[in-house]
Amino acid sequence: MRRKIAAGNWKMNGTTTALSELATLAGQIPANAPNVVICPPATLLIASAEACAGTGVSIGAQDCHMQASGAYTGDISASMVADTGAGYVIIGHSERRDAHAESDADVNAKAQQVWGAGLTAILCIGESGAVREAGTTLEVIAAQLAGSLPDAATGANCVIAYEPIWAIGTGKVPTLEQIVEVHDFIRAGLVTRFGAEIGNRFSLLYGGSVKPDNAATIFEAENVDGALVGGASLKASDFAPIIAALAAS
Ligand code: PEP
Repeated sequence: MRRKIAAGNWKMNGTTTALSELATLAGQIPANAPNVVICPPATLLIASAEACAGTGVSIGAQDCHMQASGAYTGDISASMVADTGAGYVIIGHSERRDAHAESDADVNAKAQQVWGAGLTAILCIGESGAVREAGTTLEVIAAQLAGSLPDAATGANCVIAYEPIWAIGTGKVPTLEQIVEVHDFIRAGLVTRFGAEIGNRFSLLYGGSVKPDNAATIFEAENVDGALVGGASLKASDFAPIIAALAAS
């Protein structure tokens, strides 16, 4: 069995007043809930981990540095994330790959830092709109996986999030057939590379404009094990129905 995971990425949103959303969310998680992860800004990691202790909600960071320590002003390391009480780190989000010029090799190095700190990586991959239109999505996905996913990856230490860049924050969602095609392709690639036992254990998340009204359809896909959700994770009233749809899938 694979873990079902609903992960929320708050991006650069939220101050301490947003912590009340965590308590509200924790109170709305169904008994058969999947794993729920909230990734608040770094400033809220400690308070979020404290607020969610003993609830079904885990906390994750949105990034970490590719080195363990050193002269990297403004950055945080994986061990610093672990020290906050968080259990997950998003790495390779397209907004980091784009705005911070992160390469597949950088993401690969970050994954190894995440695992060295005993955390689980949520590793993001996904094609641009231009790539989708050019018809080379699967080639790009294969290259991103080959370059950014280390050989030491397992279903226990790594979750893979497929996030078409053109669907993030745009309200545009791929068709179910497009989602199925890419997720099945990722699964097949993992099985080829790691063998069936390990390859079938990775949880694969879809991300990009997941909302309460489209989540159930997306979760119909066999190789969609959950979602990475941006905007709709900011309010418990939006995220809770997505979690419920995943629990029911
Ligand atoms: C994201 O940022 O990872 C994301 C999927 O955002 P949204 O749900 O807002 O499209």
